[in-house]
Amino acid sequence: MSELICWICNKYDANSGEHVVKRSDLELHLGEISRANPLYRLKMDGSEGKKIYSSKNNSFKYSKTICEYCNQTLTQPHDTAWEELSRHFHSEFIRLRNKGKWNPKSVFDNCKKRMLDVHLFFLKNFGCLIKEFGYDEYIDLYELSDSILNSYSNSYFFLAFGFDETGKYKLRGTISGKPIIKSLEGKVVCTHYYNVGLMVVILLYSKRYRPTNFWHPDDSENLIPFQNFGHRL
Ligand SMILES: [Zn+2]
Repeated sequence: MSELICWICNKYDANSGEHVVKRSDLELHLGEISRANPLYRLKMDGSEGKKIYSSKNNSFKYSKTICEYCNQTLTQPHDTAWEELSRHFHSEFIRLRNKGKWNPKSVFDNCKKRMLDVHLFFLKNFGCLIKEFGYDEYIDLYELSDSILNSYSNSYFFLAFGFDETGKYKLRGTISGKPIIKSLEGKVVCTHYYNVGLMVVILLYSKRYRPTNFWHPDDSENLIPFQNFGHRL
């Protein structure tokens, strides 16, 4: 039995590890992972780590910090909302890249609710990352879990969507190393990149400022930028 308790429900044993990058994203954006098409887990310095020959490999999972119920049942609608959006980014990539914007209403019927689900999917992913690196002394996981449990957005958590075509990350499912965290007078800013293939989502937790070109569920009626991040990754 695990000694850790799930950081989301604070009730059950932490017996499940969230995927760092979803398996469905690896396969959709990079094709079937095999000996002929391996992935690399990046090291902290950005160099290639060991090769991985299957999307089932545990290297693509965070440590077990949540329970199976929270990971598979409670947050399932969040996962499926992101899967749907990720498929849209993949199938419409060229159009979105040229346009530089995307419309959530053309992806989801129940747009406001499903975009909140996307926010909550990345909040789960982000919470697992924070736990993984022991940053929960800077970022209160109760605040994150309360949003997930009660289906409301976190005021400090933003997403930016876009792509990177520089080739730097093109052929790999990449896992950024440590998230970038800065604390100024107790006000934390933490950034993490969720990138697979050409697609990039930037996760930003900011208690210091409201970032521009980042999306929050309060904005979901609007067109959202689809940005070129190639120059900044
Ligand atoms: Zn749980």
